[in-house]
Amino acid sequence: MQNCDVIVIGSGIGGLCAAGLLARYGKRVIVCESHTIAGGAAHSFRRRKFEFDSGPSFYCGLTDAQSLNPLKQVLDVLGESLSCVSYDPLGHYHLPEGTFAVYGNIERYLHEVEKITLQGAKELKQFQERLLPLYEAMKGIPTLALRTDWQMILVLIRRYLPSLTKMLPNLPIVQASVGNVMDATVKDAWVRRLIDLECFLLSGLKAHGTIAPEVAFMLGERSRCGVEYPVGGSAAIVNALVRGLEKFHGKLRLGCHVEQILVESGKAVGVRLQNGEILKAPVVISNATIWDTYTKLLRPEDLPASYRKVSLNTPAVDSFMHLHLGIRGEGLENLTGHHVVVHDGQLDITSPGNTCMISIPSVWDATLAPEKHHVVHAYTLEPYGGWEKNARYEQKKQERAKSLYRALERIIPDIRDRIELELIGTPLTHARYLRRYQGTYGPAIAAGKGMFPNTHTPIAGLYRVGDSTMPGIGVPAVAASGILCANTLVKPEQTAELLDNLLHF
Ligand SMILES: Cc1cc2nc3c(=O)[nH]c(=O)nc-3n(C[C@H](O)[C@H](O)[C@H](O)COP(=O)(O)OP(=O)(O)OC[C@H]3O[C@@H](n4cnc5c(N)ncnc54)[C@H](O)[C@@H]3O)c2cc1C
Repeated sequence: MQNCDVIVIGSGIGGLCAAGLLARYGKRVIVCESHTIAGGAAHSFRRRKFEFDSGPSFYCGLTDAQSLNPLKQVLDVLGESLSCVSYDPLGHYHLPEGTFAVYGNIERYLHEVEKITLQGAKELKQFQERLLPLYEAMKGIPTLALRTDWQMILVLIRRYLPSLTKMLPNLPIVQASVGNVMDATVKDAWVRRLIDLECFLLSGLKAHGTIAPEVAFMLGERSRCGVEYPVGGSAAIVNALVRGLEKFHGKLRLGCHVEQILVESGKAVGVRLQNGEILKAPVVISNATIWDTYTKLLRPEDLPASYRKVSLNTPAVDSFMHLHLGIRGEGLENLTGHHVVVHDGQLDITSPGNTCMISIPSVWDATLAPEKHHVVHAYTLEPYGGWEKNARYEQKKQERAKSLYRALERIIPDIRDRIELELIGTPLTHARYLRRYQGTYGPAIAAGKGMFPNTHTPIAGLYRVGDSTMPGIGVPAVAASGILCANTLVKPEQTAELLDNLLHF
């Protein structure tokens, strides 16, 4: 007795992309989401008329038909679109030496850097010129065409040979760290720190830990398609994916916690829910992290011991302190939406509290806050270790949020006097609401120091999607993981048919 063809555990962007695409291919899909709100790290939540993004707010290429963003490709296939607000500069970096605007447009960005270091700007140009051909080569092969089995070679040869040829000269940097490209092109210390910062914002690791294609993609997309914010916040993206899933008869069950993946004779056969219900399917896809999947959802004996050990030893990026504020907005007419504050230039940018990310999305979408108010989300890295719900918890929360307030005061000096709603989140909050191991941002697999484990597992019928499967933590990468997993479960001809229906591929 099968309840469906595919069970997806988790409705993060990776899970929803896999589920939507598989439903589009005609599979009977059920998504089981533990939380009562879909979206995982990208869910939105409402408190007292303020609508907050729990995580991402920085997006490229959500509406541009030319975009390489895999999420856009999934939305196209599902016949869904988003209404977005474009903006440039994409943000302001507030460094100890001063504040400068970061533009998506490469020329404008270089012009800003020139104001600080003329030589550095020249070197940054060389750095970008080394990476952009890789982005150009990526253009010819849509993520939507890719899969993770041997048939991928046939697909590439049959359909994308000319583009593959363009990729050849870039092969030396495809797997390489972008730090190598930086070493070969940039000597200027300030620009090197800038590149480290941008890599850290992207992957949670500095330049030497980040792979070159990730940075090439970021530079290429933000220059070509620009940066945009979805009206309605990250929930708008999640809702569009859920609509697409349901349009093709897929089902999303919220508040539906999976307790165990059922494995019989080395094969996944279904899941057991927390309420004791059993769902059967020949394919199970876990969108939970690698650590959660292999410790909480499987029994130790389900996996080969050495594989399990290596997987669980995957290093993790720290968790976060979060500050979600609803504030009065009078006199803030010139406020802009994205800011990154580095407090201390002598301290490593990855040190907890030193680099603070700020997003004020109500400057683009006023409906997120009551009239003349704003929603603010500030966050910074924070280790999970040492956090406990004990008598000191509330006091520690206040202490650790101080660096976020200090960062916010660079942008809105009287922020504390404007607060109408304050929510402080700790690594425990992050782990609890996102159901993520130690509240981690994702795996810290540095370029050249390990391989991402891909969507396959040693258990037949069990696959994984999300940020611990492919390089590049972030919405485009997890959407790509969903595509690759879904495509691997159908015949290449079915994918070709989808691509043929989308004119721009
Ligand atoms: C603060 C922050 C800011 C970010 N900013 C950006 C940004 O600006 N741009 C960008 O591109 N990326 C950003 N990211 C990264 C991006 O949000 C994530 O990489 C991405 O959303 C992760 O998606 P995922 O598919 O891996 O799944 P997740 O979001 O981790 O979702 C997994 C889902 O599985 C569910 N689940 C887990 N276990 C079970 C179970 N046993 N049963 C049922 N359900 C279960 C969880 O509840 C969750 O909903 C940010 C992340 C954070 C935390």
